[in-house]
Amino acid sequence: MTLDADLSWARAWLKEDKKQYINGQWVAGAGQTWDVKNPATGETLSTIALADAAQADAAAAAAHRCHQSDVWSRKTTRKQRADVLNAIARLIRENTQKLAILESLPNGKLLSEAMVDDIPTCAEIFEYYAGWTDKFYGEVSPVEDGFLNFTNKEPVGVCALIAPWNFPLYQASLKIAPALAMGNTVVMKPSEYTPLATQFLFELIDRELDLPAGLLNLLVCDGPVANHLTVSRDVHKVSFTGSTNVGRQIVQNSGQSNLKAVTLELGGKSPCIFFDDTPDLDAAIDRAFTVMFSHKGEKCSEPTRFLIQKGSYDYVMSRLIEKAEAVRCGDPLSPDAQQGPQCNPAQFKRIMDYIEIGKGEAELVAGGYADQQGDNANGLFIRPTIFANVPGSARIAQEEIFGPVLSCTPFDTAEDALKLANDTTYGLAAGVYTGNINVAHQMADRLDAGMIFVNRYGCYGLSSPFGGFKESGWGKEMAIHSLSSYTKTKGIWIAYG
Ligand code: NAD
Repeated sequence: MTLDADLSWARAWLKEDKKQYINGQWVAGAGQTWDVKNPATGETLSTIALADAAQADAAAAAAHRCHQSDVWSRKTTRKQRADVLNAIARLIRENTQKLAILESLPNGKLLSEAMVDDIPTCAEIFEYYAGWTDKFYGEVSPVEDGFLNFTNKEPVGVCALIAPWNFPLYQASLKIAPALAMGNTVVMKPSEYTPLATQFLFELIDRELDLPAGLLNLLVCDGPVANHLTVSRDVHKVSFTGSTNVGRQIVQNSGQSNLKAVTLELGGKSPCIFFDDTPDLDAAIDRAFTVMFSHKGEKCSEPTRFLIQKGSYDYVMSRLIEKAEAVRCGDPLSPDAQQGPQCNPAQFKRIMDYIEIGKGEAELVAGGYADQQGDNANGLFIRPTIFANVPGSARIAQEEIFGPVLSCTPFDTAEDALKLANDTTYGLAAGVYTGNINVAHQMADRLDAGMIFVNRYGCYGLSSPFGGFKESGWGKEMAIHSLSSYTKTKGIWIAYG
């Protein structure tokens, strides 16, 4: 299909009623109505009746009944589970452009980013976990003579999967695929700002696949209603990606209800360290700049703090400023645009507020203002913004901004860089550029972050764990590491002596 054809399909689809998917049925949301907006224009894309608390309970209860029936965990073979995951991957591949449009429109990310990056990766995630349905198993433990001890991996049960707005379908896939692969049932809660691609995928699944009622439920609701899921005794696990404050609330709710398992992917303030001996400094700058400002800086693991050794500092800064000034902000559907609008007005205001704070703390050297001229007049566009000579203690160096705002700080020695790098409450990712193999290993060892990138910032692969230390989260997503959090390990003793 051409882009024009899929855009007209999207316009018609957006006008259709958007419903909740509970117990295998589409039902009208009983909560408040909510406008999903296009941040490039301010236009309403779709008006949705959100779910209310009773519907959150109903979705959790449906998932619970489905889990207790064993229809998915025991009566469906592992091969059949894999077939379902592969079928979902196929639906994503066959509808890549439609899904990319629905991902781009409410988020503001470039259509090209969604087409090339986000949506194909969603299909890969389902294929990857399809391969795991019969490969994640227990072990036989070396116990005393006369006994056999072995472990089984069992599904956790009902998984409430709560996603943010920055990578909507990707985050949903990263949670749904391992949950289903391990035999769990699901209540999926996308962000109310960006539910569209997830909604469409559920429609495709409902239309094309014959799945048990209650296995997959979709709840489009706001935070307070989602909070209900996290106190529900029908829910056995919450996998949450979002802000650190909501993560804390979910942990408290778990403690005050049924001690449900919780995994958290939270915020970040990741450093990228450039030593003077970086082998190809221009390539390093290009890469780190791209990772920092792609998806308009709304990425948790992006390098928001560049720590630059003093011998290279002036050169790196001049290249960064030149690159920032050349960026074209514009309509995410346009092939000419290089940066889309921020996702929503609250996020736009938060970023602009931080820019004002930054002006009092450091030296503004690029951007620092909203880009709302001409065609961008009604959009939430912010110029790529760079602060120089940022003290390590500055708020813009310590607090997550989640937008196109970069803090740059010069340093003398590796010890200074380490101190600056590790001195925040976050620990999601960190990068190091150096030509010295010993320094690379020493830094990788001592940086206090869940993911370390040496000489190429931002490498991701489904077979490598994703997740942070400190207040960046609990547990890991991707790879085999995700599977342990969607299973319970049971130890079984057989006495045969
Ligand atoms: P958010 O915490 O406001 O919302 C995330 C999701 O939680 C949304 O679906 C929201 O509706 C829901 N929610 C809000 N209050 C809730 C409550 N009390 N109980 C249950 N659910 C609730 O975050 P956001 O603004 O959507 O996303 C931005 C944040 O996400 C940033 O802090 C960013 O760092 C983080 N993030 C982290 C990762 C990661 O992998 N570490 C990835 C993407 C985004």
